[in-house]
Amino acid sequence: MSTSLKTKTLIEGQLRNWSLASNNYAGLQKVKTKSVVLAGGSEVKVQFNPERMRSSAAKVDTKSIQERPCFLCEKNRPAEQEGVDYGDYTVLINPFPIFTEHLTIPHKEHTLQLIAPYFPSMLELAKELNDFTLFYNGPKCGASAPDHFHFQAGIKGFMPIEEDFRSGDYAKLIVTSGGVDVFNWQGYNRGIITFRSANAAAIEQLFAQLHKALWTKQAEEVEPMLNILAGYEEEQYVVHVFPRILHRPACYFAEGDEQILISPASVDMGGVFITPRPEDFGKISAEDVAEILKQVCMSEEQCLAVINQIIEQG
Ligand SMILES: [Zn+2]
Repeated sequence: MSTSLKTKTLIEGQLRNWSLASNNYAGLQKVKTKSVVLAGGSEVKVQFNPERMRSSAAKVDTKSIQERPCFLCEKNRPAEQEGVDYGDYTVLINPFPIFTEHLTIPHKEHTLQLIAPYFPSMLELAKELNDFTLFYNGPKCGASAPDHFHFQAGIKGFMPIEEDFRSGDYAKLIVTSGGVDVFNWQGYNRGIITFRSANAAAIEQLFAQLHKALWTKQAEEVEPMLNILAGYEEEQYVVHVFPRILHRPACYFAEGDEQILISPASVDMGGVFITPRPEDFGKISAEDVAEILKQVCMSEEQCLAVINQIIEQG
């Protein structure tokens, strides 16, 4: 049986037999969503999802991480949680979903959240699980387990970025290099660099160059701050990289009425903002969303400069 089919079977089985998961997926049917339109015309959905508080407000400092049992290690997982084996990884259902089908894909070893050694796995998994978009949150860009390497995956058709890419309205082809189409997004309120190719090795090579170029700007970090979305469609890999300049926006730390508790990660970058508190869901505006993106993301112009830099060095 293919991994994709085994994963479908896993989801069905867990929703029958694991009450935490079945309750939370049933709850997802009732979550409120609204939509805001940013300057330039793109849409961002806002989802009120109280179960995601544990993720949005996760304490990811070294001390807090060391003091808790790692929830991605097999020995600490709930007894009801089953998995599908895939190479060095185990495909699990995420019991605190954003998507109607939402996976967590931890490495079998308890090893640091760092993308460089595992980027090829991300492409492989994107192809294997091609009903899903794979995502990677860096240790300071939304990962709530920065000590245990993992991807997540969400069923396609939910994040606005997928259709926004297909439309061609925002992603501008800058260059085709070594068989990889390289796009810069314009008028989208956040800097994104997109690679598209049928050739995984060619994308891996360009990604390595991008990783290096970004890291020189943030040499003090364990890796350049970033989120990544990867999917496979029409026999091509599509990889969106969101270089980040800040972990959490100012409004996360504000007090009283000024506070909006949002800790942006890949799904927010993909156009679905997750608000765990009702008051934030109620008040968040298009201006707030744009301001948060502006604070945490590299700009479109900076992304274009990075593309030009890696192509010249290529
Ligand atoms: Zn672990």
